Amino acid sequence: MEQNQAPRSVSSHIALFGRRNAGKSSLINALTGQNLAIVSDQLGTTTDPVYKSIELFPLGPCVLIDTAGLDDTGTLGELRREKSLEVLSRTDIAVYVADAQTGLDQNEEEFIQHLRQRELPVVLVWNKSDLACLPAPKGAIAVSAQTGQGLEQLVSVLSNAKPQQKAPGLLDGLVSPGDIVLLVTPIDSSAPKGRLILPQQQVLRALLELGAPALVVQPEEIPAALAALAAPPALVITDSQAFARVAELLPSSMPLTSFSILFARAKGDLSELAAGARAIASLKDGDRILIAEACTHHRQEDDIGKVKIPRWLLQKTGKELHFDFTSGLGYTKQLSDYALVVHCGACMINRAEMLNRIEQARVANVPIVNYGVLIAYVTGILDRVLEPIPETQQKEAIHA
Ligand code: SF4
Repeated sequence: MEQNQAPRSVSSHIALFGRRNAGKSSLINALTGQNLAIVSDQLGTTTDPVYKSIELFPLGPCVLIDTAGLDDTGTLGELRREKSLEVLSRTDIAVYVADAQTGLDQNEEEFIQHLRQRELPVVLVWNKSDLACLPAPKGAIAVSAQTGQGLEQLVSVLSNAKPQQKAPGLLDGLVSPGDIVLLVTPIDSSAPKGRLILPQQQVLRALLELGAPALVVQPEEIPAALAALAAPPALVITDSQAFARVAELLPSSMPLTSFSILFARAKGDLSELAAGARAIASLKDGDRILIAEACTHHRQEDDIGKVKIPRWLLQKTGKELHFDFTSGLGYTKQLSDYALVVHCGACMINRAEMLNRIEQARVANVPIVNYGVLIAYVTGILDRVLEPIPETQQKEAIHA
């Protein structure tokens, strides 16, 4: 990632779909002004989805996703089509690129209908409109990636689109300008060398934007930090793995939550994840648990997903549980085999994809929790860390 680039996980994902040779890659090149996607007249040049970051105002940071043609053929073509369709799970805005010379066939009409049924904003682009072409259907934008015709209108439509899954702000309803916030970030053996992890950086950035001063400490520095402040902090946000230690060091009336609770809220459905945590109490001998991570990463000896979560669940329940693991963008299709899904913090995927994963678990009738919410549950402080979050209080009151 370039240093000044927003992380992909917080960018709106704009996916371009269409038949082979409809000009998706040329359109991305024209929009970004760079020859990043390989373009040729040969059918099926794009194989795996290609991602390119772009900033659109007022929409903000976006990634344009170039997908393989939906009419790709043969066994490899089928695999590429599947990969293109997988992109849908993380799409915030769909662009359907049609070749204005041939128009839309029935499969394309059906696919566009499918996009609309998913309640995604869909932009129909009538590409190659500089060539002898069919008239653009109502609502389509006539564009030529070659001459630049219509690009300005397309950029304007995309910039003002309302992504279905626009994430709420990390601190919405929790912190006001001028509030002092204490951030607890242990620098232990699991902390990366020389930097803060992404969720910590993003919370710091959000506080700076809001004008709420932050005091950043390690757990053992909490007493000194509290003593130095004229008034108690409006909120304490801690790394989940230090929950228990931090909770002990703070007065019980002081609002406490964690980076992972904030991200679970911004990324997914916190109430659903909290319900997933409470389902741990009903686990039985022989139950299978799926531990799902959204990216592959270097595992440490006492890895949270592979080692700590299974250990905590075994200790907490005293049951004989079986664990399976998955990582990367693929998400198992056999969710109904499991009594519980435990998902990672999802820092590398966007809200649309995390909500999609939660929805798949809901459809399979399997409770789902994430690491941060699970840690709060097993350390016995789930109620406390949810307390500052207004909407979970409302929902839980309704469910009570
Ligand atoms: S929280 Fe999930 S997405 Fe983020 S680094 Fe860990 S495994 Fe990857």
